[in-house]
Amino acid sequence: MTIDEIRQSFYSLQQSIHGNKPLVYLDNAATTQTLQPALDALIAYYHQGNANVHRATHTLATNATHALEETRKAVQQFIHAKESTEIIFTSGTTASINLVANSYGAAYIQPGDEILISEMEHHSNIVPWQLACERKGAHLAVIPINDQGELIMEEFEKRLKPRTKIVALTQVSNNLGTINPIAEIVQKAHAVGAVVLVDAAQAVAHMPIDVQQLDCDFLIFSSHKMYAPTGVGVLYGKRALLEQLPPYQVGGGMIDQVTLPQSTYTGLPYKFEAGTPNTANIVALGAAIAWLQAIGWKYIMEYEQQLSAYAKQLLQDIKGLRLISTARDSVGILSFAIPTMHHLDIGLLLDAQGIAVRTGHGCTQPLMKRLGVDGIVRASIGIYNTEAEITYFVEQLARIIR
Ligand code: PMP
Repeated sequence: MTIDEIRQSFYSLQQSIHGNKPLVYLDNAATTQTLQPALDALIAYYHQGNANVHRATHTLATNATHALEETRKAVQQFIHAKESTEIIFTSGTTASINLVANSYGAAYIQPGDEILISEMEHHSNIVPWQLACERKGAHLAVIPINDQGELIMEEFEKRLKPRTKIVALTQVSNNLGTINPIAEIVQKAHAVGAVVLVDAAQAVAHMPIDVQQLDCDFLIFSSHKMYAPTGVGVLYGKRALLEQLPPYQVGGGMIDQVTLPQSTYTGLPYKFEAGTPNTANIVALGAAIAWLQAIGWKYIMEYEQQLSAYAKQLLQDIKGLRLISTARDSVGILSFAIPTMHHLDIGLLLDAQGIAVRTGHGCTQPLMKRLGVDGIVRASIGIYNTEAEITYFVEQLARIIR
């Protein structure tokens, strides 16, 4: 597929902003634009007949159930899970982390235990653990980062203790772009008996994920950051672990027997899927996965790395710009600060030229504190961005600074 064909697959990219500025969308780390084949799958699902899954015997219900379960298998293959029962659908990364923090927290965290996160986590991978610690009298320990925006591995090792119960880390930082050495982290965490949760929200659209190779215990991501519609999240968990965990949300669809005094629950994955799932959007996620697989990781990674290197080089040449994304191993997330300007002003002035970037703390206030800034400007690359867009963005930025 050529870049033009890729761009044709995204209707929203064809628009102009403020009347005559062609949209340059560089806020992909927040949410990606939505792929037409995913939208086609969503509409086809409704056209063929909406029905509730896993319940009725009629044809529409059978078809809806089949479509949902086929997507579960597609997700299983996409992240190389051993079994499709290890794939749980939620409403997003945040919901998936809350599920684990509540369920695993309730079952396994004791007073005096430790939960280990890092200084670069998204708020969604901080706050649920703060609450889990509060509920259980546990302690939240934090791995610091170095000035390049990388985890300090010696500090990680120092913080691993027999009472470390869970290590919850991002695979890729949403504001630094840093790729963390997850396989090594998992191996070291397992050596002290801790389980590892991987927040793959920023990794899933940019690199292949193999949960068996990583040997992680939980891995989590959202549909809206991988060219699918909003509203769907995935929680992968090793079967043996998930089987031991109590349910988080309860209600229809996840029960075995209900009597008025008490209930028993059904098995995986339904034990963690109370209520009616977001079937249409789950089906659309399946279409986005098929599309990504058809393009192939080799192309995606090479193309995005090349664009990212080009953008970094241009940004580094701007006088007075402090580049924040400086890790050696990173994806196409380019954050920076201009000490003489407010990030919000830069965002508004770029928007006036049709350029969409993220400004502010980017849901990482502890990271902002570590960097000594109130906020940043973040340009994040997706599969449909072009070299011409990067050139235009940097030219406009340089003009605004001047
Ligand atoms: N973790 C990371 C690393 C993220 O980038 C995001 C989204 N910005 C989230 C968690 C939260 O994802 P969602 O809003 O889809 O729940």
